[in-house]
Amino acid sequence: MGTWHVYRCNKCNYEIQTSGGHDCGFFAVTDTYICNSCKAVVDVAVGEYGITYSKEEALMQKERSLIEMDFYICPDCGSDKYLIEWDQKIKPCPKCDGTMNMMQMEEW
Ligand SMILES: [Zn+2]
Ligand SMILES: [Zn+2]
Repeated sequence: MGTWHVYRCNKCNYEIQTSGGHDCGFFAVTDTYICNSCKAVVDVAVGEYGITYSKEEALMQKERSLIEMDFYICPDCGSDKYLIEWDQKIKPCPKCDGTMNMMQMEEW
């Protein structure tokens, strides 16, 4: 079970679908980050089966992950160097200086 949120920027109309924060999906635990390389809001895997790993734990866990998942890596560019946590209160747009507003929420 999880929740999808649709966010849209009030200035440039950039739109994303995201779990909008910490979320436990079927396998993966995700958190929402901004990738400064892609200039995008991305859901990054930070754990599996309901367990959240620290970045250090994730590196170790990667060796024996049952589902061979990459943790703390941008799903778009595959890099871990440009990720910063998305501020859930301000919800800044990664493409401009606008803010992302929730347009829609969907449970699945
Ligand atoms: Zn924007
Ligand atoms: Zn990226």
